[in-house]
Amino acid sequence: MEWADELAARVSGPQVVNDSKTPSGTVHVGSLRGPVILDVITRALREAGHATTLLYGVDDLDAMDAQALLTPDAVDRYMGVPLAHIPDQVADGHASYARHHAGIFIDLFADLGIHPDRYYWMSDIYPTGAMDGYIRTALDRAHVVREAYKRVSKVQHPDTWHPVLVICESCGKVGTTIVTKWDGERVFYECRPELVTWARGCGNSGWVAPFGGRAKLPWNLEWAAQWSHFGVTIEPNGKDLATAGGSRDRSEAIAREVFEREPPLNVPYEFLNIGGKKMSTSKGRGAAAHRMVEVVPAEQLRMLFLRPRPNQAIEFDPEGTDAVPRLFDEFDRLADATAGREVKGELPPGFAKVFGYSLLDPHADVAAEAARFRPAFSHLALLAQIPGVDVAARVREEKGADLDAAEQVTLDARLRAAAAWLADYAPERSRMAVRDELPAEAAALDAEQRAFLAALADAVGGAGVPAPSGGDAWQGAIFATATSLALAPGRAFGALYLAFLGRPNGPRAGWLLASLDAAFVVARLRAAAGGPTLDVGGAA
Ligand SMILES: [Zn+2]
Ligand SMILES: [Zn+2]
Repeated sequence: MEWADELAARVSGPQVVNDSKTPSGTVHVGSLRGPVILDVITRALREAGHATTLLYGVDDLDAMDAQALLTPDAVDRYMGVPLAHIPDQVADGHASYARHHAGIFIDLFADLGIHPDRYYWMSDIYPTGAMDGYIRTALDRAHVVREAYKRVSKVQHPDTWHPVLVICESCGKVGTTIVTKWDGERVFYECRPELVTWARGCGNSGWVAPFGGRAKLPWNLEWAAQWSHFGVTIEPNGKDLATAGGSRDRSEAIAREVFEREPPLNVPYEFLNIGGKKMSTSKGRGAAAHRMVEVVPAEQLRMLFLRPRPNQAIEFDPEGTDAVPRLFDEFDRLADATAGREVKGELPPGFAKVFGYSLLDPHADVAAEAARFRPAFSHLALLAQIPGVDVAARVREEKGADLDAAEQVTLDARLRAAAAWLADYAPERSRMAVRDELPAEAAALDAEQRAFLAALADAVGGAGVPAPSGGDAWQGAIFATATSLALAPGRAFGALYLAFLGRPNGPRAGWLLASLDAAFVVARLRAAAGGPTLDVGGAA
């Protein structure tokens, strides 16, 4: 996490951190990386004593364009129309298509501990006249803009091209218009049928004063105008915009040469790849941000984004894998390490910071939070599948004390996530049902496996022997018994799965057995072994 603190040490004076998004449709979970990074930068700046304002904007006068076609939400008849002027297709109370999709996305922020000081909507800003000065400057300096585009991005606009997009007075589209003249007060625009491939203009043309919301700046100029208007000092952006000669370079040149202001500091960040592929705004198999937060709670999602440096891509493949349980395990490992408990494996640099920044409350007592009891996700996913188990009681037992209020909240959140994971993402091997009766499949057990099951029954349920307490203790008993019989662990676990689940594989066996009533376990072990009187040759 040094990068955020280094950034905070590098700047001076009050800071304005900004990001904005075009609400072209359903938003992919990877799009939350930006807001999480923004939030961490803001926290680091404030911790370093800089007065800091966090802004989040919605570029909702942008046209529904080719980008929207990448989502499942694009509406054919509105291609080219400003997103803010398209009706909400879902009709669930939002004022527009833009408010619907941006709303669903922004609603996630508070739950993720992200609290911008101000949200702004460009469809609100333009009508106030706040952009008029920038529109005028851009038109007066159209030749400078054309020159910058040509030099930075090798984009050659005709000499008559002017950097403003009029919202066609006839058809309402903004993606199909081009301005070719500027007389100092009004522009001449044409709404051309063939200007772009993804929308068709109506052929209208005329002179109009491009102020007060009747026109907008093209994206690169709008971005630079936002920097000037809000006094932005830091603005991270996704790697796709940060390529040489790309969008960021263009906007930085515009900021310097047209609006005469130094652009903000950039913190380019890489993508979140789901299943090895870069996922843009959607097309995800359940990768929509508002769906993913159901299975990955806020703190774990923050950690997913924060553990690597911003310039590292993140591979996350939650479907049919243990990626989600592993994320919880890693979170708990960082908590343990932060609390000073011994952990296995290498720790990321600044792991306590990663843990602290993953917490929702910026003022949380990190040491106290790290020390809290957290039930293992995999264990909960297991318990959730066993009928009749009092999960809360089992978790209390595991902790050895009552849960405090915060721990109870964690338990509830993890149980909800476990249910969502089992329903939509878990691999088949993690789904299981403990059979009420000895499964017929247990007939496949060989003599060595039967001897192992009998020995385990003695080890955990013999006269005067207390049953192991907790998954680790059960796991230890399984290993010790297998070792004493020189039985390979794989065959030992296989025997347990056949005896309890009627299949050759399953979740961590120690946790499975710990989840069940001990007397039931012993009875089942004996039944599967072939009977309570089988001579096990003094094992255990
Ligand atoms: Zn809606
Ligand atoms: Zn038109």
